[in-house]
Amino acid sequence: MSPTVPFQSSSIASRLGTASIVAAGVALLIAVVTLTLLQYISLRHRLVADSRTEARIIADTVTSAVLFADRKTADETLQTMLNSEVVSHVAVMLPGGEIFAVAPATARQLPAHLEPGAHFSGSTLRIVEPITHEGVPLGHICIEKALAQMYSQIAIYAASCLAVCLGAFWLIAILIGRAKRAISDGEMKLQRLAHFDPVAQVWNRNAFSHYLKSKLDNATPDGWVAVLLFDLDNFKTINDNFGHHVGDELLRSVAVRLQAALQDHDLLFRLGGDEFSVILSECRDRASIGELAAGMVDRFVAPFYIEGQELFVTCSIGISIYPDDASDVNTIVRNADLAMYRAKLQGKNTYRAFSPEMNEQVKRRMLIESALRRALTRNEFTLHYQPQFKLESGELTGAEALLRWTSPELGTISPVEFIPIAEESGLIIGIGDWVLRAACVQIAGWLEHGFHPPTISINLSAKQLRQPGLAKSILDTVAQHGILPTMLELELTESMLMENLAETVSEFSALQAQGMRLSIDDFGTGYSSMAYLKRLPLDKIKIDRAFIKDLPHSHNDCRIVTAMIAMSHSLGLTVVAEGVERQDQADFLLNEGCDTVQGYLYGRPLYREAFEKLLKNEYRSPSIV
Ligand code: C2E
Ligand code: CA
Ligand code: CA
Repeated sequence: MSPTVPFQSSSIASRLGTASIVAAGVALLIAVVTLTLLQYISLRHRLVADSRTEARIIADTVTSAVLFADRKTADETLQTMLNSEVVSHVAVMLPGGEIFAVAPATARQLPAHLEPGAHFSGSTLRIVEPITHEGVPLGHICIEKALAQMYSQIAIYAASCLAVCLGAFWLIAILIGRAKRAISDGEMKLQRLAHFDPVAQVWNRNAFSHYLKSKLDNATPDGWVAVLLFDLDNFKTINDNFGHHVGDELLRSVAVRLQAALQDHDLLFRLGGDEFSVILSECRDRASIGELAAGMVDRFVAPFYIEGQELFVTCSIGISIYPDDASDVNTIVRNADLAMYRAKLQGKNTYRAFSPEMNEQVKRRMLIESALRRALTRNEFTLHYQPQFKLESGELTGAEALLRWTSPELGTISPVEFIPIAEESGLIIGIGDWVLRAACVQIAGWLEHGFHPPTISINLSAKQLRQPGLAKSILDTVAQHGILPTMLELELTESMLMENLAETVSEFSALQAQGMRLSIDDFGTGYSSMAYLKRLPLDKIKIDRAFIKDLPHSHNDCRIVTAMIAMSHSLGLTVVAEGVERQDQADFLLNEGCDTVQGYLYGRPLYREAFEKLLKNEYRSPSIV
């Protein structure tokens, strides 16, 4: 795992660093320009003041020379002015504009009329001061000075300022550099905290969203990005049974295993709970992504050893690929999720790549869910009853109540399709309650009409099992309808029982104490653990259709079914074989001592009136149906 977050865009530190350097540079430059300008103004001001004083002194000195028209003395006086390097010309001019005296003597081209004051023109400064005697104007003194010296002084001043500022800039840059490193270190730590999952030690959901977005934003039209979503199939059971610290340790080990299957440029994320994701962005084709996913599923074959426990976990993977399946973050994730959901539905421990028809399935699922919400109030459900017969005598021993739903909008929908949707949406609680009440009403009705119905079994769902006080509420319902608990049987699957073994045992002991029977449905498809068979207050196991289907031709199935029957009998349990369709299956089961059968050979699930006919015919099988 690389210690740096690999997908941060522009960090605060680098933006702050650049901004500070630019700001400091601009501030120093403004300082240099301002100081130079001030210096220029001050020098110019001083030069003008000094020059005017000089001009006045000269004016005073040459007044008598002008009065007495003594050009020679005036020339000599002016000549002394030329000792100064900056003075280029100096002249005394009479009121009419005529030059009275000038130095150097070669300069005779001064303008005739000059306003008193200071006049700048490019590289020279001209000072004009009046010469007066007792208030009578005698002319002007005009001094011209070269500004080169002042300019060179300013240039030296500006250069010095610039040098000082560059030094300061260098110091500031060093300090900013240090601050930038400190901020950037802090930033890295924060980034890691915000993007890292401390439990599994991989990147988290935040990081996943950022990384995927940046990958999709930067993907070229012919480039591609694949998202693999992982969900552990039985993590919750492990967490519940072994505690959260084992669960956390397991997540870490899972991350290590997944990481080992990846290349350096593939990133692994934990999205939360038992969900992981991998983003692949190096060029591969669909087939090789499939191979990678298959390899990852295989990595879960070996058990995990956590705190001395040997744990088996499997995973389901959904794959969605940009640009084939989606072009934005939400769609690609939703499609990967759909594909993963599909992998779960198709038996878990496998992977599925997204295909457009999955969207159709989701639409149908949503239609079914919304229709299901109205089904109870619109009275759209009915119960059918599938008879169960004693194999030896053909006596009717029971019937399974199976739910049927005809929606006015969608038509008849199989429970195989709508029960899982009802379970996921939580609607199964209300529906399960309806089934229990409808079965009770029916039994009470049959009793009232003189029928002697056999035990009616109803299917419970995992969600119902998790309801607190289930046993009491079932017994109350039964009592409300004036029937006995012995007239009902409850069917549960193995995985449902495993989820909450301790509570299930206490709830069902209470039901059994009142004479209600409990059977394990679809036996053989779940954990088939002897441990819970012994602990639970069971009466029956129902061998799943999958094991009956190929009897008596499949030797394996023959051996399994024989062992299941023997094992159940040794625990004092009655055995029901489900889905018996042919006589050769029935013969085999009879031979192995199976107690009861249920299947199309003996009777399909029957609507109420048809089942009543069966009751009237005094419970004979299989010819009756
Ligand atoms: P399940 O409990 O295993 O019910 C037996 C299913 O096998 C029924 O399907 C029944 O019609 C079918 N079946 C019976 N004999 C044969 C046979 O010889 N061959 C074949 N191929 N199939 C046979 P159904 O009625 O479609 O019910 C499917 C599942 O829906 C049930 O499986 C059960 O898990 C669930 N379900 C049905 N009614 C309810 C209910 O009231 N509550 C709950 N929670 N689940 C229900
Ligand atoms: Ca059943
Ligand atoms: Ca079953």
